[in-house]
Amino acid sequence: TELSRIRNFSIVAHIDHGKSTLADRLIQSTGTVADRDMKEQLLDSMDIERERGITIKANSVRIDYKANDGQDYVLNLIDTPGHVDFAYEVSRSMRAVEGSLLIVDASQGVEAQTLANVYHALDAGHEIVPVLNKIDLPAAEPDRVKAQIEDVIGLDASDAVLISAKSGLGIPDVLEAIVHRLPAPKGDRTAPLKAMLVDSWYDPYLGVVVMVRVMDGVLRKGDRIRMMQTNAVYSVDTLAVLRPQMVAIPELGPGEIGVLTAQIKQVRDTRVGDTITTERKGATEALPGFKPAQPVVFCGLFPVDAADFEDLRDAIEKLALNDASFSYEMETSAALGFGFRCGFLGLLHLEVIRDRLEREYDIDLITTAPSVVYHLYMRDGTVKDLHNPADMPDLTLVDHLEEPRIKATILVPDEYLGDVLKLCQDRRGIQADLSYAGSRAMVVYDLPLNEVVFDFYDRLKSVTKGYASFDYTITGYREDALVKMQVLVNDEPVDALSMMVHRDRAEMRGRAMVEKLKDLIPRHMFKIPIQAAIGGKVIARETLSALRKDVTAKCYGGDATRKRKLLDKQKAGKKKMRQFGKVDIPQEAFISALKMD
Ligand code: GDP
Ligand code: MG
Repeated sequence: TELSRIRNFSIVAHIDHGKSTLADRLIQSTGTVADRDMKEQLLDSMDIERERGITIKANSVRIDYKANDGQDYVLNLIDTPGHVDFAYEVSRSMRAVEGSLLIVDASQGVEAQTLANVYHALDAGHEIVPVLNKIDLPAAEPDRVKAQIEDVIGLDASDAVLISAKSGLGIPDVLEAIVHRLPAPKGDRTAPLKAMLVDSWYDPYLGVVVMVRVMDGVLRKGDRIRMMQTNAVYSVDTLAVLRPQMVAIPELGPGEIGVLTAQIKQVRDTRVGDTITTERKGATEALPGFKPAQPVVFCGLFPVDAADFEDLRDAIEKLALNDASFSYEMETSAALGFGFRCGFLGLLHLEVIRDRLEREYDIDLITTAPSVVYHLYMRDGTVKDLHNPADMPDLTLVDHLEEPRIKATILVPDEYLGDVLKLCQDRRGIQADLSYAGSRAMVVYDLPLNEVVFDFYDRLKSVTKGYASFDYTITGYREDALVKMQVLVNDEPVDALSMMVHRDRAEMRGRAMVEKLKDLIPRHMFKIPIQAAIGGKVIARETLSALRKDVTAKCYGGDATRKRKLLDKQKAGKKKMRQFGKVDIPQEAFISALKMD
């Protein structure tokens, strides 16, 4: 296709502002998918994404559109993940296109992810067309939201397109805006091949599928190609465009977006952001800005039933084949036995993987406290990464320790501002900025990532009744006074509950932790001391008293069904317990104990 007839774009939006619905309407109104094949949220393919209403992996669709000027255009939409954990994927897919539609819900206005994503788009040099969605809603205030886009983002919104993605109103205007307001791609057909690896995934029938954007040169079926990062060479078996199902095509020229298969064994062999060229007469210089996605949150995953270990290994290996940003290695814990130490891009990523292991592979798991990666500066001059608090060496060997910090941006209605500031302050935050976007406050905080990984997002939602939006980027490492806190149950250390805490907050965290555990651990026939300790020093202690014989004793009177229920509940609970020395600890204790209220 001629460059002047191609438009490549992405849609940036805060979650729930209507990105998927708009994508559906664009696909449907151009006849890309026949009405009878149309189902909602066409681009969000994984079940878990649908359930949670989030898009995890980038996906794309090629749309043919005859514009009002009578010309035929090819529109390539790349859908980007909407969540903070996948910021790297977002910024890569943005570099594969020239423009963005900025969707803002006209009844809500600009939110934290609107800003984060629009900054990615601006960084990538995009032309941006503002689109106000949900104007069918009585609460829609297009004029106010236009003014907000101009104030907060500094983008001219006078020509914003007003639409209802739900009813279809304004969709033709969006298509015309794409053609006339977004630039055509540039590229040189005669230059050596340079294609950006935008995304890759595992397809059970085809194997690894790689999505590419050709920058220069031509990519043909049968070509021998080389990945410039890994130097691996493959030959292209299939070349296709997505409509959104695969349709074979003989070649992709500059500006075009498509997918290839090349007998690549695992998704790990492909690196998002890598440059693909031809093996012979290839490009000598790769596209700029490649950096591999790094896991930032680690936790241990252990089977509740030790007999499930091999199944867990199989399941983790399968998932890892399809997700290069997920890392794992075997781990043994004195308390939990054999399991895996896994690394994730963030908490959502962790939750998604854990859910899939439990649901798709039917394995009950114990998840240990999520931990960030600390830098240990040892007395002997070496520097180590610490992924697991349980591995923290003796303090006398450590000179100092650095932890990752983030820049968090929170948008919140004025009336909840006080609660948000308090929450950030409680989490060792340092306020960096406070400004207003209409009636909403925009706060920027410098926070330790380790204070955010457990339950920050949940707390933020609950103190603001769901009205706050949140986004973050990792900014770097900084020294602080962190210590390892251990938990002892019945005088035995439970390594899975070890955590790194700030010295000044250790006592408070220790106290909260033992109080929680006292409620979470069922009573036994004997007294159980529960302690938190730093080094050899106990900083908090509770005692769980011994059990009375009859578990149903507290059901006064003789309600038989109630007694039965209680017994059944105990039995079900039992299955999900692990023994530590003589004590049974229920699975949920490991996560619940770490949450702070
Ligand atoms: P995404 O998270 O940005 O992909 O948002 P979705 O496309 O999944 O939309 C979120 C919710 O808003 C869904 O319940 C949609 O049905 C609804 N929605 C999307 N567009 C409109 C619209 O124009 N009007 C109304 N009233 N609801 C909409
Ligand atoms: Mg969506």
